[in-house]
Amino acid sequence: MSEFLTHIKTELAAIDADGMTKRERMISGPQGTHVSMAGARMLNLCANNYLGLANHPNLTAAAHRALDTDGYGMASVRFICGTQDLHRKLETRLAAYLGQDDSILFAACFDANGGLFEPLLGTEDAVISDSLNHASIIDGIRLCKARRFRYANSDMTDLEAQLQAARAGGARFIMIATDGVFSMDGFLAKLPEIRALADAYGALLMVDDCHATGFMGPQGRGTPAHFGIKADVITGTLGKALGGALGGYIAGPQAVVDLLRQRARPYLFSNALPPMIVAAGLAALDLVESADDLRAQLFANAAYWRAGLTDTGFDVLPGEHPIIPVMLGEAKVAQAMAQDLGKRGVHVAGFFFPVVPKGRARIRTQINAALTRDDLDFGLDAFRAAGRAVGVI
Ligand SMILES: *Cc1c(COP(=O)(O)O)cnc(C)c1O
Repeated sequence: MSEFLTHIKTELAAIDADGMTKRERMISGPQGTHVSMAGARMLNLCANNYLGLANHPNLTAAAHRALDTDGYGMASVRFICGTQDLHRKLETRLAAYLGQDDSILFAACFDANGGLFEPLLGTEDAVISDSLNHASIIDGIRLCKARRFRYANSDMTDLEAQLQAARAGGARFIMIATDGVFSMDGFLAKLPEIRALADAYGALLMVDDCHATGFMGPQGRGTPAHFGIKADVITGTLGKALGGALGGYIAGPQAVVDLLRQRARPYLFSNALPPMIVAAGLAALDLVESADDLRAQLFANAAYWRAGLTDTGFDVLPGEHPIIPVMLGEAKVAQAMAQDLGKRGVHVAGFFFPVVPKGRARIRTQINAALTRDDLDFGLDAFRAAGRAVGVI
């Protein structure tokens, strides 16, 4: 044991020596445009709370009600005695919202992606994955027996080469897997081109739309709707725009969902979502389906923030998504900048290797619909002052 712990401590020391230790800042009270940290009121620019629903009164009221009518916990997986009418209602609702036959709930999208590939694809098949896909897609693919191919992020020439390689290898079925939005850059996947290539090579298309469902595209139906294409399978989360608590899902053709209910391991061997989460998920869908005002506010806020940062002289990645990364180069600079912003009442997180490539460290800002013009101006003033203090503008 002591030898083992010495080994673990050496590992921790190495992480720390590289300046890679992640330190969790403690919030007291709810998630929102501002959070309370050690008594200080901080402008919060790093939550996935795109529509500001994380503490919305409709969601908290729905959760409270479900706690009274349906209890606290299910104490069961779905197929034994963990399925309430609420679960099926949310699954049907999500499927209709996403334009798919049916959907299946998981404890998180990490589990949805972890459980998706293995039941659907076997050794005769191939899966082709974007190099910047979320860790949960990578892990899900590792757990399945299909041949694995990878293409450089959004590189359509490379995707076609991988499709040809998979076909030449005799693959029975091919599935292309991509994030709808790449979370470190805020770039959208090139879904129209990917769909066209998938069709040309007879491949299936899976899109993980965690950073889009609820706010991208008409009625917030996500990146496939934004581009007007159909994805064969969509995975997503209730943990971001749709309330921000937890829960994941897979939506797709009836037979696919039916087979996942029989075979997906994180579904079969893990607890049912608690009723309050499911009820709040339904309340979130009620809101987002008619939240054109919130979506308009979100994109107006994002455009204002992006323009403000650019005018100030920061190197901002181009795009339209409310993920707006400020490029700072070296990890040390990103850390110094995040720290300085903290002192000025703005909470942001620096991202550096291995999360992003070396020399491409950044502060990833995320804008939401609940931020006011005053909040954004306060944030811009702080970024200007911090940028000068750290010497990047
Ligand atoms: C956040 C995220 C996940 C994980 O979702 P959880 O429901 O929090 O497990 C999966 N994929 C992508 C692309 C994400 O951004």
